[in-house]
Amino acid sequence: MSDFDFDIDINELRERIKEDDNPKFEDDDTKFNPAKQMKVGDEAIVRVMPRYDNKHWSVEHIYHQLNGKGRFYTCPQQFDHTAKCPFCEKSKTYYDRGDTETGAKFWKKRRFGAFVRVKNAEELGLTNLDEPTVWWYGKTIESKFKAAIEDDEIGAFFHPIEGYDFKLRRGEKKDYPNYDSSDFARAKTKLHDNEKVIKALFEARHDLVEDIEPALSYEELSDILNGNSSVSEEDDREDAVENGTTARLPETKEEAKEDASTTDDDADLQALLAKINS
Ligand SMILES: [Zn+2]
Repeated sequence: MSDFDFDIDINELRERIKEDDNPKFEDDDTKFNPAKQMKVGDEAIVRVMPRYDNKHWSVEHIYHQLNGKGRFYTCPQQFDHTAKCPFCEKSKTYYDRGDTETGAKFWKKRRFGAFVRVKNAEELGLTNLDEPTVWWYGKTIESKFKAAIEDDEIGAFFHPIEGYDFKLRRGEKKDYPNYDSSDFARAKTKLHDNEKVIKALFEARHDLVEDIEPALSYEELSDILNGNSSVSEEDDREDAVENGTTARLPETKEEAKEDASTTDDDADLQALLAKINS
């Protein structure tokens, strides 16, 4: 027997190939992910629950992807708009040359995170969603939210008592998920009939900025861009899952539970609190 230590595991390699073919930012299904969880033709009744300490209805994430797909790399300009970023620089060299198509593949993109409650989650088969759940969405939806705020009739769509539900309709355009036909409901509704549940839902939110992965250093991002990365993708992915799913719950949920009075909504509230607690 040779003592040559041949340590390549073929099964591990196969797993790795599978992962590379299906890159994801995170793997958990406790968050709302319409592209993965909704079928063409589905309509989700979504209520947005912003955190006012952000003075915004959503949290913006500025990121890059290699060639415009796969893993998300937070742009160093997320937290410091003067920071140097190899992705931004590379993109600019293409734009300067007039190659806007390649430039766009490396340019920074924006997505927006908000806490939401999917009112018809059960009907859509989304029983794993956190309550409230996190939804990271793109520019189309964000512009619809912005337009609603400026609309005199709708305005504060996220108000828990006098707000409006957002009807998210999953369509498809050139094989890509498309949500263009989504719109706000035309009648005011409550976030939930039981105000104790509303309180518990609002208290269960955390600052979504905490979920954004910190930007890698200039050198690390350069290495990734040049294909010389020593960063372990696997570790990264685990971190992302961990960061994404950590629900930072307030201590007051126990109080809310004790406080629950015997109403018709009681079972509903207990179920919600159990879900929030789990
Ligand atoms: Zn950048």
